[in-house]
Amino acid sequence: MTNTILVVGSLAYDDVQTPFERRRNVLGGAACYFSFASSLYAPVRLVGVVGDDFEQSDIDRVARKGVDVSGIERRPGRSFHWSGRYDYELGSAETLATDLGVFATWRPEVPEAFRDSDLVFLANIHPEIQLEVLEQIRQPKLVALDSMNLWIDTQRDALARVMSRVDIVSLNEGEVRQFGRTFSVLRGAREILALGPRALIVKRGEYGAVLFTETGSFWAPAFPLEKIQDPTGAGDSFAGGFLGYLATCETPDDAHLRRAVIHGVVCASFAVERFSVEGIEALTRDRAAERYRALRDLVTIGAEAVAEDDPFAAVTR
Ligand code: AMP
Repeated sequence: MTNTILVVGSLAYDDVQTPFERRRNVLGGAACYFSFASSLYAPVRLVGVVGDDFEQSDIDRVARKGVDVSGIERRPGRSFHWSGRYDYELGSAETLATDLGVFATWRPEVPEAFRDSDLVFLANIHPEIQLEVLEQIRQPKLVALDSMNLWIDTQRDALARVMSRVDIVSLNEGEVRQFGRTFSVLRGAREILALGPRALIVKRGEYGAVLFTETGSFWAPAFPLEKIQDPTGAGDSFAGGFLGYLATCETPDDAHLRRAVIHGVVCASFAVERFSVEGIEALTRDRAAERYRALRDLVTIGAEAVAEDDPFAAVTR
């Protein structure tokens, strides 16, 4: 049994600068990255908006992966356009410009045929709009949301409200600190979990991701890469792998959530290896499975070591 996934979020053209390369008007947007990753696992439905400058061939690239793109509205005006820059750290983007275009006045209307979706990803948009979307879905089994510093600064109450209505919150480390008004990620995480979500994912760039739940936490490293070309979309590709895997589970328990983190890390690693969506678009199940196993081996201490009660038992002096 595979559940269906609904994603609501941006489809964009991005200008991206790294210390090595600069590209303009490349395909991006949270919903795009998410759809490429999650469609490896489950049927995906996309709700978004584009302007009249958006190439049909770019929508076709997403549709070719089996994603249902009938929820993409085309409106007169410009598509969402984001410009960002990364320094050598490649950790977080500096936003140079955001041109909302048709995204500015968009109120997502979830098509009737999508309202029975099982899993929902509310990609980074105004939290009030995330709430509006949520109200249109009949009985989702699992809802996850992503957000950003802008909404923590300007819409904290609305964001807290929507966080209290979802199962999984996904933020990067800096955003958790900002939301909790603390330097401590652990405290920030505790504050977010107290609002009600079952789990919090804290994205830590090249250091991986952490899953926080009521019962504990799970820390996964990033997949070690020699070449990183463009970190854009790492978070949304992570979310795509994470929710994609959960869509294949009947009733996800905490062990499934841990596996889902590894799937997320694997998808993110492919996204950052190439520019724009190229890496995640080219990903196949076989290549993802191979990297999943490699990452699992990287973090596994071995069954015998896990069975030891006393790690110092063999130390005699
Ligand atoms: P990520 O690197 O995973 O956080 O997401 C990067 C993508 O998010 C880029 O392709 C941008 O087009 C998109 N993006 C950037 N800022 C916003 C925003 N304010 N609202 C919606 N999408 C955005």
